[in-house]
Amino acid sequence: MTDTQAREAELYMQAARRLPVTLVRGEGVRVWDDEGKEYLDFVAGIASCTFGHSDPELAEVIAEQARTLIHVSNIFYTEPQIELAELLIEHSAMDRVFFANSGAEANEAALKLARKWGRLNRSGAHEIIVAQNGFHGRTMATVAATGTPAYREPFEPLVPGFIYVDFDDVEAIQSATNEHTAAVMLEPIQGEGGINVPDAGYLRAVREWCDEQGMLLILDEVQVGMGRTGTLWAHEQAGIIPDIMTSAKALGGGVPIGAMMATEAASVFEPGDHGSTFGGQPLATAAAAHVLRRVVEGDTLANVRARGEQAASRLSALGEKHDVVRGVRGRGLLIGLELNDAIAPQVVVESVQRGVLLNPVRPDVVRMMPPLNVTAEEIDQVVDIIDGAIAEVAG
Ligand SMILES: *Cc1c(COP(=O)(O)O)cnc(C)c1O
Repeated sequence: MTDTQAREAELYMQAARRLPVTLVRGEGVRVWDDEGKEYLDFVAGIASCTFGHSDPELAEVIAEQARTLIHVSNIFYTEPQIELAELLIEHSAMDRVFFANSGAEANEAALKLARKWGRLNRSGAHEIIVAQNGFHGRTMATVAATGTPAYREPFEPLVPGFIYVDFDDVEAIQSATNEHTAAVMLEPIQGEGGINVPDAGYLRAVREWCDEQGMLLILDEVQVGMGRTGTLWAHEQAGIIPDIMTSAKALGGGVPIGAMMATEAASVFEPGDHGSTFGGQPLATAAAAHVLRRVVEGDTLANVRARGEQAASRLSALGEKHDVVRGVRGRGLLIGLELNDAIAPQVVVESVQRGVLLNPVRPDVVRMMPPLNVTAEEIDQVVDIIDGAIAEVAG
């Protein structure tokens, strides 16, 4: 245990499981620990470091905005906030934006908006149908919306009104719907739940059901959005439009920001309904505007698709060498390597020793979510290291 880790053990709330690595510096896809050891970072701040670490262009945008105006609160207007709002509206099917500071906060805003919408438009309907294994954050309402009992149970009683159904099962949503249902809230692909990709027709069927019933569809694009799955928003691939959607993680390229967006019909907040001291501040919105512009204007999305295919085919091929490798799931650069045994934590520890940062999202699934500008060489290097790590752990 290093000095930093010993101090952490003594005084930091022991709420998170960490790998025994203290990071001090990063550049692109690479990070270095306090002993000078180099790693290829395929965690990327949990799918948040859109263009890797210490990106010079993003650093310049942040520095310039910090020299100009960091924060003033929403008592005043600021130009970077409205510029980011314009960009998000231009590059989505949404009409209005609200900025928060994290994914959970963006989802809190979405849940409050849906409750108010139900009150106004569906005779006080307030229930929200959510999916088992879903993940929407750690605040009291978003943890209530999270389909993993272990995340909820220690904190009960929670915010009421959430109905849990199986993911990728439209009939389960139909059976759970009643006159009290205001909305269905889903991730287009479940991230924390283990990178669960639904059947091709699922989201479209849910959209049709919500339309038929006059309910809202809320999509949580916090992990899968901002280009991670090869299109700016994951739901584009299903050919549907949500009523409310949220973004965070990669939106700020590493700077904390969350966004809740909605169609005009769903935008029922009035002055005084919701707020955030830091939400949409100049520093975070200037950073996010730069990141979003680069994702939509450059060759980032094409790189995500090409590198995603490369990683999926090279990782699948590991199945021919290692019986323990079952397959690959995910889309674009949100990749899950499925194993036949619950050895993902050991594979990750061995990979970290060999210089690759990964995440065991499930006991039998290793998650990879590299920066969106990862190169072909970096993908190859990481697959080779995982190959060796699996041989060591399972061989
Ligand atoms: C990470 C995540 C959240 C929570 O975001 P925070 O910024 O950690 O609050 C919500 N929804 C999804 C799908 C996520 O992956």
